[in-house]
Amino acid sequence: MTTATDVVMQRMLTVPDFPSAGILFRDLTPVFAHGASFRSVVDGLIEPFVGEFDAVAGLEARGFLLAAAAAIDAGVGVLPIRKGGKLPGDIIGETYDLEYGTATLEVNPVSLPAGSRVLVLDDVLATGGTIEASVSLIERAGWSVAGIAVVLELEALGGRQRLAGREIHSLVSL
Ligand code: AMP
Repeated sequence: MTTATDVVMQRMLTVPDFPSAGILFRDLTPVFAHGASFRSVVDGLIEPFVGEFDAVAGLEARGFLLAAAAAIDAGVGVLPIRKGGKLPGDIIGETYDLEYGTATLEVNPVSLPAGSRVLVLDDVLATGGTIEASVSLIERAGWSVAGIAVVLELEALGGRQRLAGREIHSLVSL
């Protein structure tokens, strides 16, 4: 049987020096672009958490693709966690460090009922800064984190240690 892990390994592209020198970029576009593989990946991401979440949060931008599909699959709603400056209203934000500079993520706390259990999805867990900021936003908004699922975890970058105490499910670890 072909597993979600197999389809990622078969179709993922590895691109040296993108977007800058020294970065080994993992491009999951061909995995998502293949229908059976995309379904397998989405099913594999949510499988450990079935029945434990009320909404799926996707991190801009590739996480949006996964979260929307997973939400339909699970019969729950989708919450986009957006880059700074995109959402109107009384939003809350978290600013975090990137290798060069900073980034901000935002949500509006009225988007989900208080106490909602949110499953967080993204394509890649690298240093964990993006997911750490998202987890903080979800909790500040009055919701809880049901779990974290990513297609690919880059172990050497320490994201799992940074998110210690959280349940993290990755389809592939490199
Ligand atoms: P981080 O906050 O360091 O965990 O970075 C995670 C975000 O950066 C994810 O949303 C990924 O899309 C992206 N990212 C980081 N490193 C890579 C990489 N080597 N290949 C592809 N995407 C990456």
